[in-house]
Amino acid sequence: MYPDVQLLIDGVWRGASNGAKLSVVNPASGDVNGTVAHATRDDLDQALEAAQKGFRVWRKVSAYERSKVMRKAAQLLRDRSDTIATYMTMEQGKPIGEAKMEVMASADIIEWFAEEGRRTYGRVVPARAEGIYQLVIKEPVGPVAAFTPWNFPINQVVRKLSGAVATGCSIIVKAPEETPASPAELLRCFVDAGVPHGVVNLVYGIPAEISEYLIPHPVIRKISFTGSTAIGKQLSALAGLHMKRATMELGGHAPAIVFDDADVDIASKLLAGAKFRNAGQVCVSPTRFLVQEGLYKKFVENFVAHSKALKVGEGLDASTQMGPLANPRRVAAMEGLIADAVQHGGKVQTGGKRIGNKGNFFEPTVLTDVPLDAKVQNDEPFGPLAIISPFKTFDDVVAEANRLPFGLASYAYTRSAKTANLIAAEVEAGMMSINHHGLALPEIPFGGIKDSGYGSEGGSEALEGYLNTKMVSQAGL
Ligand code: NAD
Repeated sequence: MYPDVQLLIDGVWRGASNGAKLSVVNPASGDVNGTVAHATRDDLDQALEAAQKGFRVWRKVSAYERSKVMRKAAQLLRDRSDTIATYMTMEQGKPIGEAKMEVMASADIIEWFAEEGRRTYGRVVPARAEGIYQLVIKEPVGPVAAFTPWNFPINQVVRKLSGAVATGCSIIVKAPEETPASPAELLRCFVDAGVPHGVVNLVYGIPAEISEYLIPHPVIRKISFTGSTAIGKQLSALAGLHMKRATMELGGHAPAIVFDDADVDIASKLLAGAKFRNAGQVCVSPTRFLVQEGLYKKFVENFVAHSKALKVGEGLDASTQMGPLANPRRVAAMEGLIADAVQHGGKVQTGGKRIGNKGNFFEPTVLTDVPLDAKVQNDEPFGPLAIISPFKTFDDVVAEANRLPFGLASYAYTRSAKTANLIAAEVEAGMMSINHHGLALPEIPFGGIKDSGYGSEGGSEALEGYLNTKMVSQAGL
């Protein structure tokens, strides 16, 4: 039932102009699901032309009308959620319940942007002389090029797509080649809801070739990328060279701090749940668990018990709690990080190995006693791997939390309001969630600082990224 995924250019679904396609593999079985079309340079030129034409049309449509079309797209996404979630599990591996939640949450995101797009207010600045109006006007930035990864095939697209469409921009999405069908269905909802031809376009291909062509291209006015810090730095350098606006949502290595006065049962349960969601392939996944000495032993015990109890299996089986890793690169990365940690003296409390030899299944893994010079203490694991380390004082844990160049998500557990305030002020991160898991809702900002990037993909800040500010000073004749 998995489709052969096509390109969307100027409102038309079609294969690549030279017929090029690539296989899409099911990470649970290694079997081929179907194919995805690979865009040629000619296809990219056509997508650029369509995006330019789409922008001219869409920027003139009122925010009120745009919002109506977007709300219709959100409803279509909900109506089609069962099929789309199945595609997502077949291509990405996540449990079907998580896939369904991603689709439904994406419909909420579209609706929120649809509403917020109607509130992209400018302002009137009082003038120095009578009869003059100084107007601050918000205008769409222009055609956007968006590059999105495979871990949340729809969610990573929907924030960029909704931000662009809500503000009157057009967009070319370069969606992930490994998980192409579910994002294609998301764009289909926009087309079927009545977005004019050329406003939303979809391509797949060789990521570096596409980004190197689209980013400098004069038609493109804004870049949005989600992916690794290394690639994000390359793309933002290219965007800078060509003076293009950019939003960069990059990697993290989130500290999860548990103070002695926390409720250890709640902290270990919620943090283990967050750790193994989507098999840890989440940019805001808690990864460095820093536990104050008094609770350390109990926390490790609880966390290991949660990890062992997880049912790992095929995502389409409704009882599965953790699916396979999305691609063989993640399995190799897990094996490399664990071997290096053990070589440095780290202890494997549970897990540590690949499961079976079919598909990319990996055991939920907990490491302790891992020295700071081990690779995993420095590189984002992006997989089902937790490192738990003890700390003594508040200052010690702040130093450890801020040791790395990343600054995306962070977590803390404490019963003290004073400690909560202090830790929120001290940790260098774009987001902190205290005593619960409260990130990634459409109405709140989502983004990082330091090497984790810049710009926001949530809250009213997300729309700012798609808007230019124009000042008009007008005197009556
Ligand atoms: P990768 O760094 O090669 O690719 C990451 C993403 O960037 C992929 O979607 C890929 O298609 C895209 N990409 C790569 N080179 C590109 C280019 N030159 N132009 C445009 N897009 C490009 O590695 P990978 O094996 O796919 O993923 C591994 C790492 O990526 C992980 O360790 C993690 O740090 C990061 N990642 C982060 C997120 C996130 O949500 N921030 C999502 C997926 C992957």
